[in-house]
Amino acid sequence: MSLANVVLDAGVVTRCRRRVHWEHDPAAPQLDPLPENPAVEQRKADAQAHRAAIAKLLAEEFRGSGWVEVPTDAEPEERIAATVAALQQGVSVISGGLLPVDVEAGRRGGAELLVRTPGGYVPVIVVRHRITDPGEGALTTALTDLNPDNAREDPERKVRSHPRDQFRLAHVVELLRAAGYADPDRVVGGVIGLDADVVLWHDLLAPSFPGEKSTMQEYAERFADRLAVAAAAASGAEPLAQPSRILACRHCPWWPVCEKMLHDKQDVSLVVRGDDAVALREAGFETVASLAAADPKAEPPIAFTGTTFENAVALARAWQAGLSVVRLVPRIEVPRGDVEVDVDMESYVDHGAYLWGTLLSGADIGLPQTYRAFGTWEPLPTEDEARSFAEFWAWFTDVRSRAAARGLTFRAYCYNAWAENRWLLGSAERFAGMPGIPSVAEVQEFIDSDEWVDMFVCVVDSFLCAHGKGLKVIARVAGYEWHDPDAGGEASMRWYREAVGLGEGEADPAQRARLLRYNEDDVRATFVLREWMTSTANTEIPYVGDL
Ligand code: SF4
Repeated sequence: MSLANVVLDAGVVTRCRRRVHWEHDPAAPQLDPLPENPAVEQRKADAQAHRAAIAKLLAEEFRGSGWVEVPTDAEPEERIAATVAALQQGVSVISGGLLPVDVEAGRRGGAELLVRTPGGYVPVIVVRHRITDPGEGALTTALTDLNPDNAREDPERKVRSHPRDQFRLAHVVELLRAAGYADPDRVVGGVIGLDADVVLWHDLLAPSFPGEKSTMQEYAERFADRLAVAAAAASGAEPLAQPSRILACRHCPWWPVCEKMLHDKQDVSLVVRGDDAVALREAGFETVASLAAADPKAEPPIAFTGTTFENAVALARAWQAGLSVVRLVPRIEVPRGDVEVDVDMESYVDHGAYLWGTLLSGADIGLPQTYRAFGTWEPLPTEDEARSFAEFWAWFTDVRSRAAARGLTFRAYCYNAWAENRWLLGSAERFAGMPGIPSVAEVQEFIDSDEWVDMFVCVVDSFLCAHGKGLKVIARVAGYEWHDPDAGGEASMRWYREAVGLGEGEADPAQRARLLRYNEDDVRATFVLREWMTSTANTEIPYVGDL
């Protein structure tokens, strides 16, 4: 058994170090099971389907020349035995292989494909993200050519950076080495991506990381570090990793535990997260109080990546004063119109946008000023989505026309336009030619116009927020409260499944009502937020310059 007495998979090298600690600490607190997350479940199912489709395609190509499929649903011991048997036989391509656990090194894992070369085996992994961009220079072969010796510089593709893929390949190379089946002459690995158009080959010895380090070197350093963290945790030694707030904390099951530890220490990462927090600690600013005491006009102690020194100090002072929000500008500007519409769209993973909620306000144009929703309750994907989108667009266009006919200005608002824009354009594209569907150009023209206002951008420009800039956070500061205490993006996914009867159950009308109430709350929250930003926020919320 390794010194560490632990075995790790490839994922640890990009995982939060403290999370690796928790996962191996026998004294770690018990966590409540996470609620089901349909978006995550869907992503897993899609990835599995993608891998199965690639395996099927390649099996047809290689069956005659040596193809062995290791059942991925078998017990690990059976999978390892089947993989070793195929390696011993020198099978050309092994699909779904799981390599023997390297207990000395504390490593375990496998690859979607293990490909025989003249000197041994190389790994090829199958992923469900884009691995190249338009450009040139990526080393590729055709999808059905798994020979790395045939890789050539691609005149149409350049590599899209995915260190995680490279580390996974390095991990499998190390496992192949330990098992005695690695190709000593070729330290390479292939990746088949979402488009499944080529195999992208990575030279794992080429300098690819800062300091001219190769993938193998960078991987080795990271793996050794995580192994030490896990070993210390497993043996009850002094922890080698402490919590420090990063982006991943938002979705990490350990956050309640880490958050308490951070609060107890008043850790600086409570106000400045990620690499900036690490650098600040090294520069002597370990606590929120030490940062709050700094002179914001002085030379910054570190090269900030996510904020400025001035804003970091202001956030620390605001945090100390119990303020969740501070005004960044002497006077907030939100573009306003005579006629205004707040919009909020609900979608279900990648399947479609099932609800467009609206609230008309401002000057009278002969239409009711109430919440109005355009939706479909046929389970997505459905063509009925085209009908509901067309109805939404017809109403929206009518509002704009009525405003224009009366010589009134018009503005529409949403919170974080990325999602709305994605489905506005996506719906125009997917349902092109169907009744009432606008052209992509028409939608794009609206998106590019001054009439479409992203309130998230206004909030970013106007405030520093200690607890994030989500609508639920900032609209509550503006005085809005959601009717449903469980309201949130992930909960709404669950409600949607029940509302339309996805999976086993019957459609539940009560969950439809709940979704409509939730959507109406989001729309009304946007309305309240912008009203507040152009009125009382200017006096209620302290200006950063006054802290
Ligand atoms: S909550 Fe954050 S710091 Fe804690 S384990 Fe998770 S990602 Fe790491």
